[in-house]
Amino acid sequence: MKTNYKEALQHPIFEVVSRASEQLHIDSYVIGGFVRDFILQRDFKKDIDIVAVGSGIELALKVADLLPKKTKVQVFKNYGTAMLRFEDTEIEFVGARKESYQFESRNPVVENGTLEDDQNRRDFTINALALSLNTKTYGDLLDPFNGLIDIENKTIKTPLDPDITFSDDPLRMMRAIRFANQLGFDIETASLESIERNKERIGIISGERIVEELNKILSTETPSIGFLLLYKTGLLHLILPELTALNQVEEIEGQTHKNNFYHTLEVVDNICKNTDDVWLRWAALLHDIGKAPTKRFNKNQGWTFHGHEFLGGKMVKKIFERLHMPLNHKMKFVQKMVIMSSRPIVLSQDLVTDSAVRRLVFDAGEDVESLMILCAADITTKNPVKFKKYHGNFEIVRKKIVEVEERDHVRNFQPPITGEEIMELFNLKPSREIGILKEAIKEAILEGEIPNEYDAAYAFMMNKAQKLGLKINDC
Ligand code: ATP
Ligand code: MG
Repeated sequence: MKTNYKEALQHPIFEVVSRASEQLHIDSYVIGGFVRDFILQRDFKKDIDIVAVGSGIELALKVADLLPKKTKVQVFKNYGTAMLRFEDTEIEFVGARKESYQFESRNPVVENGTLEDDQNRRDFTINALALSLNTKTYGDLLDPFNGLIDIENKTIKTPLDPDITFSDDPLRMMRAIRFANQLGFDIETASLESIERNKERIGIISGERIVEELNKILSTETPSIGFLLLYKTGLLHLILPELTALNQVEEIEGQTHKNNFYHTLEVVDNICKNTDDVWLRWAALLHDIGKAPTKRFNKNQGWTFHGHEFLGGKMVKKIFERLHMPLNHKMKFVQKMVIMSSRPIVLSQDLVTDSAVRRLVFDAGEDVESLMILCAADITTKNPVKFKKYHGNFEIVRKKIVEVEERDHVRNFQPPITGEEIMELFNLKPSREIGILKEAIKEAILEGEIPNEYDAAYAFMMNKAQKLGLKINDC
């Protein structure tokens, strides 16, 4: 087994850290994700973690001194850590530490420790690997928990008893699943069972941190792997019960409906092939959540989910609030996608008319392409004839969107005649008639009765105004 990884230390910063450590008479190591990813030959990431057996802050300051360019060190005194940027790499320094936890908090009591103490507090064996930056042992691998073997076997495993590791800091349960998903690893059985046992501990973790991990899961190529692990361990029931509620199929009078949980996961995997936008991926994850509470059965129609999109939109807001996600335009975007998620598919099941497409573009505005991506991902039918038909119709919708756009510019629709103009023209105060006229013009444009142009709208409005008994202000 290889024991020296000098070749991992090409980055010029390592030589500087080594020199700085020597001058301070302390030992230092590069540890964690950087070492793991080097061995895995994953893309080099832009952050490096250094452990100093001594003060991490002092080491960072010394390194900054030795760098050719003036470099700012960000010091986090409370945490005993420091960070500096060199070229486009973030280098994080921490003093080796020993941690002990209280039951109610994921914030440990910290004391200075040895490298081994520091490796003990790491979450997984593959994240506890360290390379020496000390002159005599430069590049030597320190691997007390056989993390190297676990990398070879593609295994996620805690260095200590998993019940302790997970209970101490329950975020690690989410991290285990996230790493399994990102790296294509399996979680070792004892660790997986321990997650099931300790799942309730997730309650002490803030929404922000949970969402950070969910976002990383959603950013993988196949998020269903992570979500199925969250489901199997019982974490998903606690984090997103709206999703697990979709995992049931009922049968009445021989009629069933599809399992919307597995369908949702398929939609999420599908959408990942066509977008990197994590918010659109969230929309895919949540697009059917309104289906559990709206599910009904009746003899004539079978299973229905009337209004599930609208209710789903409301549920999106509640989820964002509960998980402390941003309640800004991102939330509005996810809501809009969920509310509109059935529009293109309904449209494409019938003859695709210009006016229906114009209305779609009008309502979706800037987000019409995102909506089309979501709806294409939503086609998970296993019936090849239907699959082909829906996708074929989607192509027609896409073409028509372009045509309608060129002609009528209804995306970000601006009325060709403004309310002020109408008021002036007919000498009106703000009143119902203005609304009626504006609405009638908009409707005529969307229906394709008139083009979205001033002259046509003017003529149409005059006609309509006459019927309302309005007279032009000719003074
Ligand atoms: P990535 O940057 O892809 O998330 P990483 O392994 O570098 O992967 P970081 O969150 O950057 O993860 O953390 C750096 C290192 O710190 C990890 O490799 C691990 O050793 C340790 N670590 C991070 N979070 C925890 C935690 N909650 N419990 C124990 N150790 C942790
Ligand atoms: Mg990292």
